[in-house]
Amino acid sequence: MNTKVWKVDKYVDNLENNPQVVDAAHFLQENEVVALPTETVYGLGGNAESDVAVEKIYAAKGRPSDNPLIIHIGDKKQIHAFVREIPEKAELLMESFWPGPLTIIFKKKSGVLSHKATAGLDSVAVRMPDHPVALALLKKCQLPIAAPSANSSGKPSPTKAQHVIDDLDGKIAGVLDGGSTGVGVESTVLDCTEDIPVILRPGGVTKEQLEAVVGEVHLDAALIDEASKPKAPGMKYQHYAPNAPLYLVNGSKSFLQSLIEERQNEGLRVGVLATEETVEDYQSDVTISCGRRDKLESVATALYDTLRRFNQEKVDIIYSEMFPNTGVGHAIMNRLEKAAGNKIINE
Ligand code: AMP
Ligand code: MG
Repeated sequence: MNTKVWKVDKYVDNLENNPQVVDAAHFLQENEVVALPTETVYGLGGNAESDVAVEKIYAAKGRPSDNPLIIHIGDKKQIHAFVREIPEKAELLMESFWPGPLTIIFKKKSGVLSHKATAGLDSVAVRMPDHPVALALLKKCQLPIAAPSANSSGKPSPTKAQHVIDDLDGKIAGVLDGGSTGVGVESTVLDCTEDIPVILRPGGVTKEQLEAVVGEVHLDAALIDEASKPKAPGMKYQHYAPNAPLYLVNGSKSFLQSLIEERQNEGLRVGVLATEETVEDYQSDVTISCGRRDKLESVATALYDTLRRFNQEKVDIIYSEMFPNTGVGHAIMNRLEKAAGNKIINE
């Protein structure tokens, strides 16, 4: 399959009638799959009402079929077609954070969405992305769009159109290239089917921000204790992994430097994921700054691109600094732990 690339300037007016967006919307209506920029990462979109389109998403990504997809909408009103009830807290959260990086899980109305999109569950995950190109496309095609991240399953999520092409060229109908995404880590997944909302995946909206709107919010047990079974099926899989084994280092710079030297003495090419504040302090083969430690949003934005850059640098092993587990740092550490398969070295 020839994968089309449509370049779109997200700042132009009237995006809904932009010829590239119109063409991509047409593909979606024909049940083809198309990658689109969102404010978090690139998504791989397909008609959520169509088994055919949804199967194409799972096939292109190589995603396990028990891992349900997030349904993206361009207008809050669309939700009534496939959601059974909107609890009051969910309503408040939609008002505060949509469009934005918050996915809400509702009880599902049956018979509208492809059961494959929700992996047969009786709940459904929904979000309204805050990106002009995504919103224009969603409005134009007038469909609920199932869209997981547009990477091969297990790889770091794409934050640039080139990342999508690296993984999925020839496997999907097209990519809408709207430039780099902003937030850089995926949406927060929040289960609102019970009285007290539960975070199943930390992401772009922090626990603190959610609690400011609805009061008490819990964390899924699997986010606290590794041995618990996660409620979001996707959280049990290893994700985001670069090609080389990644280790998180819980210790000082001199400890990390001693690890680098041990590996170099064994003849390995060593990569280090550092920050602006520390990038000059390591003598390794490849040291990449992932952003400013005193501005964790910048680390989130650059995280997946940095992990992919280590693949291009062909390192044998990667050591990463760790980050505080609060605010957006919670999402950063969750992704790094998964990328590392939980390999942490303590000083
Ligand atoms: P991704 O599509 O890669 O951004 O991942 C979406 C995440 O949301 C995965 O971890 C899914 O398992 C989770 N998810 C989607 N739908 C549901 C649902 N109905 N209940 C629980 N988790 C869900
Ligand atoms: Mg993903």
